[in-house]
Amino acid sequence: MHISEIYRSLQGESTYAGLPCVFVRLTGCNLRCSWCDSEFSFSGGKQMTVEEVIDEVGHLSPRGGLVEITGGEPMLQERDAVPLMERLVAAGYKVLLETSGERPLAAVPKEVVKIVDVKCPNSGEADTFAVDNLAALAPHDELKFVLTDRTDYEFARDFVREHGLAERVNAVLFSPAFRKGARGARDTSHCLLDPEQLAQWILADDVPARLSLQIHKLIWDPAAKGV
Ligand code: SF4
Repeated sequence: MHISEIYRSLQGESTYAGLPCVFVRLTGCNLRCSWCDSEFSFSGGKQMTVEEVIDEVGHLSPRGGLVEITGGEPMLQERDAVPLMERLVAAGYKVLLETSGERPLAAVPKEVVKIVDVKCPNSGEADTFAVDNLAALAPHDELKFVLTDRTDYEFARDFVREHGLAERVNAVLFSPAFRKGARGARDTSHCLLDPEQLAQWILADDVPARLSLQIHKLIWDPAAKGV
């Protein structure tokens, strides 16, 4: 399989945020979100076998714990990504899968927590989420909406209501998009949508969503890689 990087850091943007986690980032993505912060993963990296990836994860986190399979879009490499997830689950790891939900998710092992990033209008990749994937969601899964403005917020709010998402999954996450290329200040000044404004909208509309900040961009320099 084609791997961009494997490293250990803190999980940054889900209900697992703040926990130590090994990240396995797969190379390649079929989308081009306007605010993408992982463009370096579109190409490059190196070929590794599933066995080699598991060895590296075991080296970084020998006593189990969290492993996140991310990208890029990991499900583009489903043929290897699914056996990798199965092997990690069997080895006792808690496995998270970060995906856009554009590819089919039915083959993802049931033990894996899917964190599905449903693209909003200003991402430039609206309507790429495959609605059929709603049937593949499990109660432990999470749905994330990255928001830049009121248009994105209203799309997310209406999508959550239309599909009854709060009743289907463990968490619905509304996350302000971070300005691409941000560096230096480790605060919310880089958010394209002010978190305070987002909080007011969530409260005013009584949306069953959790406001989520990318805490790794508040802990480390926003431009830092491998954190
Ligand atoms: S799906 Fe993820 S990796 Fe792909 S372009 Fe969008 S944000 Fe970047």
